[in-house]
Amino acid sequence: MKLIDSHGRHINYLRLSVTDRCNLRCRYCMPAEGLSLLQHGDVLSYEELYRIAREAVSLGVEKIRLTGGEPLVRKGLIGFIERLAAIPGLKELVLTTNGILLREMAVSLRQAGIQRLNISLDSMNPTTFAAITRGGYLGRVLDGIAAAEEAGFSSIKINMVVMRGVNDDELLDFVALTLRKPYTVRFIEYMPTLQDTEWSARSLAGQEILERISQHFSLLPLVSNEMAGPARNFKVGGAVGAIGIITPISGHFCESCNRIRVTASGLVRGCLFDNQAVDLKSHLRSSAHAQVSEILQRIIIDKPGRHHLGKDEPGHGNVAMSRIGG
Ligand code: SAM
Ligand code: SF4
Repeated sequence: MKLIDSHGRHINYLRLSVTDRCNLRCRYCMPAEGLSLLQHGDVLSYEELYRIAREAVSLGVEKIRLTGGEPLVRKGLIGFIERLAAIPGLKELVLTTNGILLREMAVSLRQAGIQRLNISLDSMNPTTFAAITRGGYLGRVLDGIAAAEEAGFSSIKINMVVMRGVNDDELLDFVALTLRKPYTVRFIEYMPTLQDTEWSARSLAGQEILERISQHFSLLPLVSNEMAGPARNFKVGGAVGAIGIITPISGHFCESCNRIRVTASGLVRGCLFDNQAVDLKSHLRSSAHAQVSEILQRIIIDKPGRHHLGKDEPGHGNVAMSRIGG
Protein backbone atom coordinates (compact mmCIF):
# COMPACT_ATOMS: atom_id res chain seq x y z
CA MET A 1 0.00 0.00 0.00
CA LYS A 2 1.23 3.50 -0.83
CA LEU A 3 0.30 6.40 1.43
CA ILE A 4 -0.20 9.56 -0.60
CA ASP A 5 -1.14 12.79 1.18
CA SER A 6 -3.39 15.53 -0.15
CA HIS A 7 -0.35 17.28 -1.66
CA GLY A 8 0.63 14.19 -3.64
CA ARG A 9 3.59 13.26 -1.43
CA HIS A 10 4.43 9.63 -0.76
CA ILE A 11 4.56 9.25 3.04
CA ASN A 12 6.66 6.26 4.06
CA TYR A 13 8.74 7.41 7.04
CA LEU A 14 7.83 7.43 10.75
CA ARG A 15 9.94 9.12 13.39
CA LEU A 16 9.12 7.47 16.69
CA SER A 17 10.25 9.12 19.91
CA VAL A 18 10.68 6.53 22.66
CA THR A 19 11.36 8.93 25.54
CA ASP A 20 11.47 12.64 26.41
CA ARG A 21 14.38 12.02 28.80
CA CYS A 22 17.98 12.80 28.00
CA ASN A 23 21.44 12.50 29.53
CA LEU A 24 22.53 15.83 27.96
CA ARG A 25 21.07 19.33 28.05
CA CYS A 26 21.98 20.82 24.69
CA ARG A 27 21.43 24.58 24.78
CA TYR A 28 19.45 24.62 21.56
CA CYS A 29 17.16 21.81 22.60
CA MET A 30 16.42 22.00 26.32
CA PRO A 31 16.51 24.55 29.12
CA ALA A 32 19.26 23.99 31.73
CA GLU A 33 16.85 22.53 34.24
CA GLY A 34 15.37 20.25 31.58
CA LEU A 35 11.76 20.31 30.54
CA SER A 36 9.09 19.12 32.91
CA LEU A 37 9.26 15.40 32.30
CA LEU A 38 6.32 13.31 31.31
CA GLN A 39 4.86 11.24 34.13
CA HIS A 40 5.62 7.55 33.78
CA GLY A 41 2.00 6.76 32.87
CA ASP A 42 1.99 9.41 30.14
CA VAL A 43 4.82 7.76 28.25
CA LEU A 44 3.68 5.13 25.78
CA SER A 45 4.60 1.60 26.78
CA TYR A 46 6.68 -0.46 24.37
CA GLU A 47 3.55 -2.43 23.58
CA GLU A 48 1.77 0.77 22.57
CA LEU A 49 4.72 2.03 20.53
CA TYR A 50 4.90 -1.34 18.83
CA ARG A 51 1.22 -1.20 17.91
CA ILE A 52 1.68 2.23 16.34
CA ALA A 53 4.69 1.01 14.40
CA ARG A 54 2.91 -2.09 13.17
CA GLU A 55 -0.19 -0.13 12.09
CA ALA A 56 2.00 2.44 10.35
CA VAL A 57 3.89 -0.26 8.45
CA SER A 58 0.68 -1.97 7.44
CA LEU A 59 -0.46 1.40 6.05
CA GLY A 60 2.69 1.80 3.96
CA VAL A 61 5.46 3.13 6.21
CA GLU A 62 8.77 1.55 5.16
CA LYS A 63 11.25 3.36 7.37
CA ILE A 64 11.20 3.96 11.13
CA ARG A 65 13.68 6.15 12.99
CA LEU A 66 13.87 5.83 16.77
CA THR A 67 14.64 9.10 18.49
CA GLY A 68 13.95 10.98 21.72
CA GLY A 69 15.01 12.65 24.02
CA GLU A 70 17.89 10.26 24.05
CA PRO A 71 16.54 6.88 22.94
CA LEU A 72 19.38 4.92 24.53
CA VAL A 73 18.41 5.99 28.06
CA ARG A 74 15.13 4.08 27.95
CA LYS A 75 15.38 0.70 29.64
CA GLY A 76 14.33 -2.30 27.59
CA LEU A 77 15.10 -0.61 24.27
CA ILE A 78 16.94 -3.59 22.79
CA GLY A 79 14.01 -5.97 23.19
CA PHE A 80 11.72 -3.37 21.63
CA ILE A 81 14.05 -2.98 18.65
CA GLU A 82 14.08 -6.75 18.14
CA ARG A 83 10.30 -6.73 17.89
CA LEU A 84 10.25 -3.78 15.50
CA ALA A 85 12.87 -5.37 13.28
CA ALA A 86 10.61 -8.38 12.83
CA ILE A 87 7.65 -6.36 11.48
CA PRO A 88 7.03 -7.66 7.95
CA GLY A 89 7.28 -4.86 5.36
CA LEU A 90 9.58 -2.62 7.40
CA LYS A 91 12.59 -1.96 5.18
CA GLU A 92 14.66 0.42 7.30
CA LEU A 93 15.06 0.64 11.06
CA VAL A 94 17.44 3.41 12.10
CA LEU A 95 18.20 5.44 15.21
CA THR A 96 19.40 8.93 16.16
CA THR A 97 21.53 9.24 19.30
CA ASN A 98 23.83 11.65 21.08
CA GLY A 99 26.34 8.78 21.29
CA ILE A 100 26.96 8.97 25.04
CA LEU A 101 25.85 5.37 25.63
CA LEU A 102 27.04 3.88 22.35
CA ARG A 103 30.19 2.26 23.75
CA GLU A 104 27.95 0.09 25.95
CA MET A 105 25.16 -0.45 23.45
CA ALA A 106 26.46 -0.40 19.87
CA VAL A 107 26.85 -4.18 19.52
CA SER A 108 23.40 -4.98 20.95
CA LEU A 109 21.77 -2.27 18.83
CA ARG A 110 23.22 -3.81 15.71
CA GLN A 111 22.35 -7.35 16.72
CA ALA A 112 18.80 -6.27 17.56
CA GLY A 113 18.27 -4.89 14.07
CA ILE A 114 19.25 -1.21 13.88
CA GLN A 115 20.66 -0.80 10.39
CA ARG A 116 22.12 2.70 10.54
CA LEU A 117 22.96 5.36 13.12
CA ASN A 118 22.80 9.14 13.06
CA ILE A 119 25.03 10.51 15.78
CA SER A 120 24.80 14.12 16.91
CA LEU A 121 28.14 15.84 17.35
CA ASP A 122 28.24 19.61 17.34
CA SER A 123 31.88 20.13 18.21
CA MET A 124 35.15 18.23 18.29
CA ASN A 125 36.54 20.67 20.82
CA PRO A 126 35.97 19.35 24.38
CA THR A 127 35.34 22.82 25.82
CA THR A 128 32.87 23.85 23.13
CA PHE A 129 31.19 20.45 23.31
CA ALA A 130 30.76 20.79 27.07
CA ALA A 131 29.42 24.33 26.65
CA ILE A 132 26.83 23.31 24.02
CA THR A 133 25.69 20.22 25.90
CA ARG A 134 26.01 21.84 29.35
CA GLY A 135 28.62 19.50 30.70
CA GLY A 136 28.75 16.63 28.22
CA TYR A 137 32.05 14.76 27.89
CA LEU A 138 33.22 14.72 24.28
CA GLY A 139 35.47 11.68 24.84
CA ARG A 140 32.43 9.49 25.45
CA VAL A 141 30.80 10.44 22.17
CA LEU A 142 34.01 9.93 20.19
CA ASP A 143 34.46 6.58 21.85
CA GLY A 144 30.81 5.81 21.12
CA ILE A 145 31.33 6.55 17.44
CA ALA A 146 34.38 4.27 17.43
CA ALA A 147 32.29 1.56 19.12
CA ALA A 148 29.62 1.92 16.45
CA GLU A 149 32.23 1.37 13.74
CA GLU A 150 33.69 -1.61 15.58
CA ALA A 151 30.19 -3.07 15.88
CA GLY A 152 29.96 -3.01 12.09
CA PHE A 153 27.77 0.03 11.51
CA SER A 154 28.58 1.53 8.16
CA SER A 155 27.13 4.72 6.64
CA ILE A 156 27.34 6.52 9.98
CA LYS A 157 25.89 10.01 9.78
CA ILE A 158 27.23 12.75 12.02
CA ASN A 159 24.77 15.60 12.61
CA MET A 160 26.19 19.02 13.43
CA VAL A 161 23.86 21.93 14.20
CA VAL A 162 25.82 24.95 12.99
CA MET A 163 25.72 28.02 15.23
CA ARG A 164 27.52 31.25 14.44
CA GLY A 165 30.05 32.19 17.08
CA VAL A 166 29.61 28.82 18.81
CA ASN A 167 30.92 26.08 16.51
CA ASP A 168 31.06 27.56 13.00
CA ASP A 169 34.83 27.85 13.35
CA GLU A 170 34.90 24.03 13.13
CA LEU A 171 33.17 23.66 9.75
CA LEU A 172 36.41 22.85 7.97
CA ASP A 173 37.50 20.38 10.68
CA PHE A 174 34.25 18.49 10.18
CA VAL A 175 34.74 18.43 6.41
CA ALA A 176 38.33 17.25 6.93
CA LEU A 177 36.97 14.39 9.05
CA THR A 178 35.38 12.97 5.88
CA LEU A 179 38.81 12.75 4.26
CA ARG A 180 39.83 10.03 6.69
CA LYS A 181 36.54 8.57 7.96
CA PRO A 182 33.67 7.07 5.95
CA TYR A 183 31.06 9.25 7.68
CA THR A 184 28.50 11.53 6.15
CA VAL A 185 28.78 14.76 8.12
CA ARG A 186 25.55 16.73 7.87
CA PHE A 187 25.49 20.42 8.61
CA ILE A 188 22.05 21.39 9.91
CA GLU A 189 20.62 24.88 10.05
CA TYR A 190 19.84 25.92 13.58
CA MET A 191 16.07 25.92 14.04
CA PRO A 192 14.37 28.32 16.44
CA THR A 193 12.89 25.60 18.55
CA LEU A 194 12.98 27.28 21.93
CA GLN A 195 12.60 30.92 22.84
CA ASP A 196 16.21 31.74 22.05
CA THR A 197 16.63 35.50 21.83
CA GLU A 198 19.96 34.96 20.06
CA TRP A 199 18.63 32.58 17.44
CA SER A 200 18.75 35.11 14.57
CA ALA A 201 22.33 36.04 15.35
CA ARG A 202 23.40 32.42 15.71
CA SER A 203 21.65 30.92 12.70
CA LEU A 204 23.66 30.38 9.56
CA ALA A 205 22.01 29.62 6.22
CA GLY A 206 23.04 26.49 4.35
CA GLN A 207 24.26 28.62 1.44
CA GLU A 208 26.76 30.44 3.65
CA ILE A 209 27.92 27.12 5.11
CA LEU A 210 28.50 25.79 1.58
CA GLU A 211 30.30 28.94 0.45
CA ARG A 212 32.61 28.88 3.43
CA ILE A 213 33.46 25.24 2.83
CA SER A 214 33.86 25.76 -0.92
CA GLN A 215 36.56 28.37 -0.33
CA HIS A 216 38.77 25.56 0.96
CA PHE A 217 37.48 22.34 -0.59
CA SER A 218 36.07 21.62 -4.03
CA LEU A 219 32.76 19.84 -3.58
CA LEU A 220 31.28 17.32 -6.00
CA PRO A 221 27.46 17.02 -5.75
CA LEU A 222 26.11 13.51 -5.09
CA VAL A 223 22.71 12.19 -6.19
CA SER A 224 20.40 10.89 -3.48
CA ASN A 225 17.47 8.48 -3.46
CA GLU A 226 13.94 8.85 -2.10
CA MET A 227 14.71 7.25 1.28
CA ALA A 228 17.89 9.24 1.81
CA GLY A 229 16.31 12.18 3.62
CA PRO A 230 16.41 15.91 3.12
CA ALA A 231 20.18 16.51 2.86
CA ARG A 232 21.91 17.80 -0.28
CA ASN A 233 25.06 15.70 -0.37
CA PHE A 234 28.54 16.44 -1.63
CA LYS A 235 31.93 14.85 -1.58
CA VAL A 236 35.40 16.30 -1.40
CA GLY A 237 37.62 14.76 -4.08
CA GLY A 238 39.45 11.76 -2.61
CA ALA A 239 37.37 11.71 0.59
CA VAL A 240 36.14 8.40 2.02
CA GLY A 241 33.11 10.12 3.52
CA ALA A 242 30.68 12.77 2.34
CA ILE A 243 29.03 15.93 3.59
CA GLY A 244 25.39 16.97 3.56
CA ILE A 245 23.57 20.24 4.08
CA ILE A 246 20.14 20.27 5.70
CA THR A 247 18.28 23.54 5.29
CA PRO A 248 14.93 23.40 7.09
CA ILE A 249 14.88 27.20 7.32
CA SER A 250 16.43 28.72 4.22
CA GLY A 251 15.39 26.08 1.74
CA HIS A 252 12.64 24.07 3.31
CA PHE A 253 12.17 20.64 1.79
CA CYS A 254 8.44 20.47 2.52
CA GLU A 255 7.50 19.57 -1.06
CA SER A 256 9.37 16.30 -0.71
CA CYS A 257 8.69 15.69 3.00
CA ASN A 258 7.79 12.03 3.48
CA ARG A 259 7.54 11.78 7.27
CA ILE A 260 5.20 11.81 10.23
CA ARG A 261 6.20 11.95 13.89
CA VAL A 262 4.94 10.31 17.05
CA THR A 263 6.06 11.65 20.43
CA ALA A 264 6.79 9.53 23.48
CA SER A 265 3.41 10.54 24.90
CA GLY A 266 1.60 9.43 21.76
CA LEU A 267 0.98 12.73 19.99
CA VAL A 268 1.12 12.23 16.27
CA ARG A 269 2.12 15.17 14.08
CA GLY A 270 2.29 15.62 10.34
CA CYS A 271 4.82 18.45 10.59
CA LEU A 272 7.48 19.38 13.14
CA PHE A 273 6.33 22.99 13.12
CA ASP A 274 2.61 22.48 12.96
CA ASN A 275 0.88 22.66 16.29
CA GLN A 276 -1.83 20.31 15.17
CA ALA A 277 -1.28 16.99 16.91
CA VAL A 278 -3.61 14.13 17.57
CA ASP A 279 -3.47 12.16 20.78
CA LEU A 280 -3.12 8.49 19.90
CA LYS A 281 -2.62 7.41 23.49
CA SER A 282 -6.24 7.82 24.52
CA HIS A 283 -7.28 5.68 21.58
CA LEU A 284 -4.66 3.06 22.31
CA ARG A 285 -5.88 2.88 25.88
CA SER A 286 -9.56 2.73 25.05
CA SER A 287 -11.25 -0.13 23.32
CA ALA A 288 -11.31 1.85 20.05
CA HIS A 289 -8.28 0.03 18.71
CA ALA A 290 -9.35 0.22 15.10
CA GLN A 291 -9.14 4.00 15.29
CA VAL A 292 -5.34 4.04 15.54
CA SER A 293 -5.00 3.16 11.90
CA GLU A 294 -7.68 5.69 10.93
CA ILE A 295 -6.00 8.46 12.90
CA LEU A 296 -2.64 7.78 11.30
CA GLN A 297 -4.26 7.89 7.88
CA ARG A 298 -6.05 11.15 8.67
CA ILE A 299 -2.84 12.82 9.91
CA ILE A 300 -1.09 11.73 6.74
CA ILE A 301 -3.81 12.93 4.41
CA ASP A 302 -4.05 16.28 6.27
CA LYS A 303 -0.27 16.77 6.46
CA PRO A 304 0.39 20.50 5.90
CA GLY A 305 1.81 21.44 2.51
CA ARG A 306 4.69 23.36 4.10
CA HIS A 307 5.77 24.97 7.34
CA HIS A 308 5.98 28.73 7.62
CA LEU A 309 9.18 28.99 9.50
CA GLY A 310 11.87 31.23 8.11
CA LYS A 311 14.29 34.01 8.93
CA ASP A 312 11.45 36.52 8.85
CA GLU A 313 8.90 34.39 10.58
CA PRO A 314 10.59 32.66 13.49
CA GLY A 315 7.59 32.93 15.80
CA HIS A 316 6.29 29.43 15.11
CA GLY A 317 9.41 27.83 16.38
CA ASN A 318 8.55 27.29 19.97
CA VAL A 319 8.95 23.54 19.66
CA ALA A 320 10.44 21.28 22.32
CA MET A 321 12.73 19.10 20.18
CA SER A 322 13.46 16.70 23.01
CA ARG A 323 9.75 15.90 23.14
CA ILE A 324 9.26 15.54 19.42
CA GLY A 325 12.55 13.98 18.48
CA GLY A 326 13.89 16.42 15.88
N1 SAM B 1 19.14 12.84 21.64
C1 SAM B 1 19.32 12.43 20.29
C2 SAM B 1 20.35 13.30 19.59
O1 SAM B 1 20.67 14.37 20.09
O2 SAM B 1 20.80 12.88 18.54
C3 SAM B 1 18.04 12.38 19.48
C4 SAM B 1 17.04 13.47 19.70
S1 SAM B 1 17.54 15.07 19.12
C5 SAM B 1 16.13 16.06 19.53
C6 SAM B 1 17.46 14.84 17.38
C7 SAM B 1 18.22 15.85 16.55
O3 SAM B 1 17.60 17.13 16.66
C8 SAM B 1 19.68 16.04 16.96
O4 SAM B 1 20.53 15.80 15.84
C9 SAM B 1 19.74 17.50 17.36
O5 SAM B 1 20.98 18.07 17.04
C10 SAM B 1 18.61 18.09 16.55
N2 SAM B 1 18.15 19.35 17.09
C11 SAM B 1 17.66 19.60 18.32
N3 SAM B 1 17.37 20.91 18.46
C12 SAM B 1 17.69 21.49 17.26
C13 SAM B 1 17.63 22.84 16.75
N4 SAM B 1 17.21 23.82 17.52
N5 SAM B 1 18.01 23.07 15.50
C14 SAM B 1 18.47 22.06 14.71
N6 SAM B 1 18.54 20.78 15.12
C15 SAM B 1 18.17 20.51 16.38
FE1 SF4 C 1 19.31 15.53 24.42
FE2 SF4 C 1 19.44 15.22 21.79
FE3 SF4 C 1 18.18 17.35 22.86
FE4 SF4 C 1 20.82 17.20 23.04
S1 SF4 C 1 19.61 17.35 21.13
S2 SF4 C 1 19.39 17.71 24.73
S3 SF4 C 1 21.14 15.06 23.24
S4 SF4 C 1 17.56 15.25 23.05
